[in-house]
Amino acid sequence: MKLISTRDPSHQVTLGQAIVNGLAPDGGLYVPQVWPHFTRADFARVETLPEVARILLEPFFEHDRLRGSLPEICAESFSFPIPLRPLPAKHCAVLELFHGPTAAFKDVGARFLAATLQRLENEASTLTILVATSGDTGGAVAAAFHNRPGFEVVVLYPRGMVSPRQKQQLTCWGDNVLAVEVHGTFDDCQRMVKQAFGDPALAGRRLSSANSINIGRLLPQAVYYAAAALWHWRETSQPASFVVPTGNLGNAVAAVWARHMGLPIDAIRLATNANRVIPDFLHSGSWQPASSIATLASAMDVGNPSNMERLRFLYPQFDNLRSQVSGFTINDDQIREQIVNDHSKYQEIWCPHTATAMYVHDHHAADRNNVIVATAHPAKFETIIEPLIGEAVTVPPALAALLDKPNAFVECRADFENLVRVLRRD
Ligand SMILES: *Cc1c(COP(=O)(O)O)cnc(C)c1O
Repeated sequence: MKLISTRDPSHQVTLGQAIVNGLAPDGGLYVPQVWPHFTRADFARVETLPEVARILLEPFFEHDRLRGSLPEICAESFSFPIPLRPLPAKHCAVLELFHGPTAAFKDVGARFLAATLQRLENEASTLTILVATSGDTGGAVAAAFHNRPGFEVVVLYPRGMVSPRQKQQLTCWGDNVLAVEVHGTFDDCQRMVKQAFGDPALAGRRLSSANSINIGRLLPQAVYYAAAALWHWRETSQPASFVVPTGNLGNAVAAVWARHMGLPIDAIRLATNANRVIPDFLHSGSWQPASSIATLASAMDVGNPSNMERLRFLYPQFDNLRSQVSGFTINDDQIREQIVNDHSKYQEIWCPHTATAMYVHDHHAADRNNVIVATAHPAKFETIIEPLIGEAVTVPPALAALLDKPNAFVECRADFENLVRVLRRD
């Protein structure tokens, strides 16, 4: 199968090329040219995530030199559990995406990206992965590329704006990972990364980005929606509905794609924080990107969600788009209320992002087929959660191992010349 640009269907590349390019040359995002279609029978005897991945992703690997590596790439990317945990007391189930090395769903996309890029690389020189992060992406990408020969990772994060444990996950790696603490905002970090591409000051250095619009991060996420829908069907003979905590729409578009490929999925509900550009658009039909505002669910503080371009490409007619997804905005007080209530009533602890989705389930969409997507482990956000629930959140073993490691970072003023100096250190 070929992938095309959302802005120019005549621009066609294979999956490997799309992953290397990141963005299409015309600035569009890569989407499938034709969609494979599956039925439940295609997955009849399938029991594990790597098996679901192999079947679902096989058409995308056609005509690409990655093809022969598909089974290995799937095994590497889906090497940790993604349980669908029934929650009978709340008449829903929870899809726990946080059992990977850095305890957030970004591990899935980052590991798939690393596994594919490693097999696509055939240059003698090191490829530098340059990534700006507001928290979870940088840690996942660092973990996925740590000690992979031929790669170096440079992570830029804004000083004082990531949680203490997120910072530890960015700065604990050493070896081929360099953490850069920028005296500025996330937007400054992104601007510096963008400028690095194509700037003569860094000519001769091979750079790549692990940007969240890379199809190599989005595609593997469709796998856990497919698997969860299949497991839910086997239990209930009903299609699953998903409530997805949403920022840049990467995770949610993966759910929409899984449904589009024929998996038994009914409603897809988007939970945003106070950055409400998506729910407002679904309500009014007018797309009004804004500056992001800071909330408790900081990984969703996005004012101009880039993957909306993929959603609008799939459903060009607004009325159709609006019938495919619904959107709800949840403010910080409601996030706090959700965390406090579910802890006191059910002894369940959610991260602030997951809490937005659980709020939608409780207040806007009481659907017994709801699967609430849990995007991060609450222990990553203990400074928010522990004061609310009055007790310590147990740290999962993978996260505990990272918290025990020594850390190091270099500081950098928020201008490009300083980044160049940091990058040229060797
Ligand atoms: C990145 C992130 C989100 C938002 O995902 P998008 O794909 O940007 O919509 C939600 N929750 C957590 C914990 C995240 O790290």
